[in-house]
Amino acid sequence: MSSWWAAIHGYRHPVLDAALLDQANLMAHVMFGGLTHEPAIELARCLVDISPTGLDHVFFADSGSVSVEVALKMAIQFQRGRGRSSRTRIATLRGGYHGDTMGAMSVCDPIGGMHTMFTDALRAQVFLPRPPAGLDADLSTWINETDALLTGHCDEVAAIIIEPVLQGAGGMHIYPPASLTWLRHRSNELGILLIADEIATGFGRTGEMFAVNHAEIVPDIMCVGKALTGGYLTLAAVLCQPHVAVGIANSESGVLMHGPTFMANPLACAVAVANLDLLTASDWRSNVSRIGRALERGLAPATALNHVVDVRVLGAVGVIQVDRSVDMEVVTKTALAHGVWVRPFRDLIYTMPPYVCTDDDLTTICSGLVAAAGAMA
Ligand SMILES: *Cc1c(COP(=O)(O)O)cnc(C)c1O
Repeated sequence: MSSWWAAIHGYRHPVLDAALLDQANLMAHVMFGGLTHEPAIELARCLVDISPTGLDHVFFADSGSVSVEVALKMAIQFQRGRGRSSRTRIATLRGGYHGDTMGAMSVCDPIGGMHTMFTDALRAQVFLPRPPAGLDADLSTWINETDALLTGHCDEVAAIIIEPVLQGAGGMHIYPPASLTWLRHRSNELGILLIADEIATGFGRTGEMFAVNHAEIVPDIMCVGKALTGGYLTLAAVLCQPHVAVGIANSESGVLMHGPTFMANPLACAVAVANLDLLTASDWRSNVSRIGRALERGLAPATALNHVVDVRVLGAVGVIQVDRSVDMEVVTKTALAHGVWVRPFRDLIYTMPPYVCTDDDLTTICSGLVAAAGAMA
C-alpha cells in the first residue's frame, strides 16, 4: 500500500533518513511568513522543474486536503480579481475524492463518497458526469452532458477540480486522457480554471510524472501531496500558472488569504527534496512500466474468478474489483497468510507498491491479492 501511496521508495531509505537528520541538526522549523529557507526554495525549484511547463508558482500546505482548500480559495480569489465575484461554486467529476476537510468534502462524490452524512453542511457544488471507464472509451455522450452543465452554470463556477486519468479513493476508476483535453479547452473558453488534483497520481505513479502529462495539458492549478515526502512527513504543495497569481494579486486583499503556521516545514521540505532527487535520478519511467507489466501478469489469474468483475492496471497501480463489498476480515487474513498486507475498500482489492519492489516482491504481492480475492468466493 506504500502507506496510502506515499512511501514510493520504501521504508527507512538511507538517503531520506539522512536528509531528515541533517535538517534536524540545522534547524527543525522557522515560520514561513516574511522569511524563507533553503529547503523550501530548493523544493519549489524542483517542483517547477518537473511539473508541466507554466506552473511556476508554488504554495506549500500541510496536507493533501489543505492543499485542495487552498486551490479552491485560489480559484475564488482569482475570479474576484477579475471582477467575477459571483463565481464561487466549483465543478467536479462524480466519483471523485479530494480529501476530508469541508471544502474538499464538498467536491467529493456526493453519493458514493464517505461524506453523505455532511451533505447539508457542505456547499452545493456542480457535479459533472464521471467519464466512462477505459483509456480509449467513446466520449461523445459524456461531452454532451458535461458541456450542458458547464455552459448552464458558467456564471457561478470558479473552477473545475479533477483527479486526472485515475480517480483513486473514489473507486480506482481509470478514464480517457482525451476527456482532459476537452475539459482544458472548454474551461478556457468559459473562463473557468482547471485544477488537477495530482495528490494520488503525481510523481510517476500512473506511468507519467503527472497524470495530466497523459493528455499533454497544463492545468491552471495543480495539487501534489502523498508521495511528495516519500511517506516521511505530511506536506503538500499547490502550483499555479502566473495568470492565476496575477489574478489573486488583483483581488482586494492583494495576496492569497491562507497562511498555515507550519507552512513549508523545513524537515518536510528537506526530505521532499531528497525524495524527488532520488526519483528524478532514477529511470522511474521504465521502472514503473516494469511494475505495471508484473501487475498485469500477476493479477491476470483473478479474471478467472466468478465474482471478479474487473482487473485493471495503470502504471504502478493494480486493481481487482469484485461484485460485492470486500469481506475485510477474510481478505486481510488471506493476504497476510501470503505475506502481503493490503487495505481494501468497498469492492476493491488493490495495490500501489513502492517503486523499490523487486520482481519477486511483485510476484508475492500479486499472489497474495489473487488468493485474497479467491478466498471471498
Ligand atoms: C489522499 C488524497 C487527498 C487528501 O490528502 P490528505 O493528505 O489525506 O489530506 C486529496 N486528493 C486525493 C486525490 C487524494 O488521493
